[in-house]
Amino acid sequence: MRKEPRLNCPSCHRKGRRVPAVTPLSMLNVAADTLGPMRFCRSADCDVVYFDEANSQSFTTAEVKVLVYQKDPSPARLVCYCFAHSVESLEDEVRATGTSTVPESIANNCKAGLDDCEHNNPQGACCLGNVLRVLASAGTPARSPRASVEPESERNLLAGVAKNQGVRTRREAERCAHLESAPRPAEHCCSVSKENES
Ligand SMILES: [Zn+2]
Repeated sequence: MRKEPRLNCPSCHRKGRRVPAVTPLSMLNVAADTLGPMRFCRSADCDVVYFDEANSQSFTTAEVKVLVYQKDPSPARLVCYCFAHSVESLEDEVRATGTSTVPESIANNCKAGLDDCEHNNPQGACCLGNVLRVLASAGTPARSPRASVEPESERNLLAGVAKNQGVRTRREAERCAHLESAPRPAEHCCSVSKENES
């Protein structure tokens, strides 16, 4: 009988998101044939980054080649890995100008096919939701990007930021925000393999 795949992180026990096979291969020093289907743990307070569904392997932040946005406290860590925007650079821009051109710039680059999130971003998917979280946090100092926010209020928050930042529609913002309930059409920059949702 086939064993049930492991869906939850072995350390924090929260559900991980399936990542494309190329993502952990790009982020870790491992041989391609040693990894089965892998999941990404988003928990800020958990050191595990990837774990496999076969319940035999997990990899921590120390083994990942880049600082992981969700897990590293450094302001210098990247939030957009394809176009090298750090948390710090976003916050500096907001402080200096009161706004940010980054979400629109990322969206345009994605539409032009210049992004490669599956190889560059440890989460294996588009960063725009995380960028919007950082900007929301920069505009509202009481809110931490790592703070857990109720999905509905987070959706409204992100949609509001997205509107101000030139992301065209609330639907587009929601798709980019990688909210569990949001549909993810194949033509969009955020498109990742369908099995990621399982
Ligand atoms: Zn975890």
